[in-house]
Amino acid sequence: MKAVVNYSSGAGNVEIRDVPIPSNLGPHDVLINVKGAGVCGSDLHMYHDIQGFPVIRPVTLGHEYSGVITAVGSEVILFKEGDHVVSETPAYVCEKCIYCRSGQYNLCPHRKGFGVLVDGAMAEYVKTREAIVHKIPDNVSFEKAALTEPSCVAYNAVAHHSRIRPGDYVVVIGPGPIGLMCTQIAKLFNPGRLTVIGTRKDLSRLEVAKQFGADEVIVAEDGDVVEKILSYGDGFGPDLVLDAVGVSATLKQSVDVVRPAGQITKIGWGPAPIGFSLDPLIQKAARLQGSFSHNYPMWEKVLVMMEKGEINPLPMAKTYLIDEWKLAFDEMDSLAHAKSIILPNP
Ligand SMILES: [Zn+2]
Ligand SMILES: [Zn+2]
Repeated sequence: MKAVVNYSSGAGNVEIRDVPIPSNLGPHDVLINVKGAGVCGSDLHMYHDIQGFPVIRPVTLGHEYSGVITAVGSEVILFKEGDHVVSETPAYVCEKCIYCRSGQYNLCPHRKGFGVLVDGAMAEYVKTREAIVHKIPDNVSFEKAALTEPSCVAYNAVAHHSRIRPGDYVVVIGPGPIGLMCTQIAKLFNPGRLTVIGTRKDLSRLEVAKQFGADEVIVAEDGDVVEKILSYGDGFGPDLVLDAVGVSATLKQSVDVVRPAGQITKIGWGPAPIGFSLDPLIQKAARLQGSFSHNYPMWEKVLVMMEKGEINPLPMAKTYLIDEWKLAFDEMDSLAHAKSIILPNP
C-alpha cells in the first residue's frame, strides 16, 4: 500500500513508499481503510526535522484520521467490518500507570503516538486499538471526522483546562489549526469579546478566525498588540488567554495582558527557555495552565457537537490525494490555509 514515510533524520526526508498493509491484528486491534488524514503541525516539524520530541524512523506520518473498518481482532466487540470510525492518537499506552487507570491516558509516561513512534495514518490502511475508536455520526463526512483530533485538542484546552464563562474577554494567540478550533470552541461559551492575534502571514487564516466567531482580529505588525488588547473594556485585560503558538514572545505577551486573577492556557510547544521573568504572573495572581492531547469522553462530546453542526473544522481545510502529499505539506507550511487533509482512498 502507499504510505507517506518519514524515512530518516534530516530536513525533507519524506517520500511515498510501498509498504505492507498492517497484518497480525492483535485480539483488540482494528484495521481501518483510511478515508481522511489531517496534516498536523507536528508532521511538518518531522518533515523539517525540527520536532522537539523523540521519534523513530522510518515511520509513516499522520495521527488525525477517519475511515472504514475492514477487519477486527478476535476479541473486538464494539465494532465490526464496515463501521465508519475515527481513532484517537495514542497507538500505545501502558494501561497500568495511575493515569491510564484513571482515564487520563494522554498523560501516560509510556504513551506512543501514531506517526511518531508507531506507523501512522497517511497510508491506505492503519492498525489501531478498539479502546480508542469512535463511531462517526451519519451526517459527519470523513474529511470533517479526520479533524476530530485537533478539535479535541482545542476542546481539552478551552472546555476542560480553562476557566471560561459567558461574557468573558477571551484572547486567542495564533490562528493555526489549534488556535482556530480554540476560537470556535470558545465561541460556544458566548464570550463578551473574542479576539484572535496573528501576523501578516496569517491574513487568510485570520479571515477564517472571523468566520469561526472572532469579534476582532489583530495583526501583530500593525501596532502595539498589548496596548490594543488592554484598550478593550475596563482596561484590565482578558479573563482568558489561549496561547496556541509556543514561542517565548507570545507567552510574554500573555503574561503582560492577562487580567489579574485571570488565566493563561498554553497549548503551543517550544523547546527554547522562556527568557523573561514570571513575576507579573505572580503579582497578578493569574494562573498558567498547560494542556495536552485529550481523552475518550472528550472525543464523544466533540463528535456529538460535530453532528449538531456546532463544531465544524472544514472551512479551514483543503483536501489532497496521497500522491499530492508534498503539495499538501508545502501549502499548509506557506500558510495558504490552516489545514491540509490527505485522502488515501478517495
Ligand atoms: Zn495533531
Ligand atoms: Zn500508562
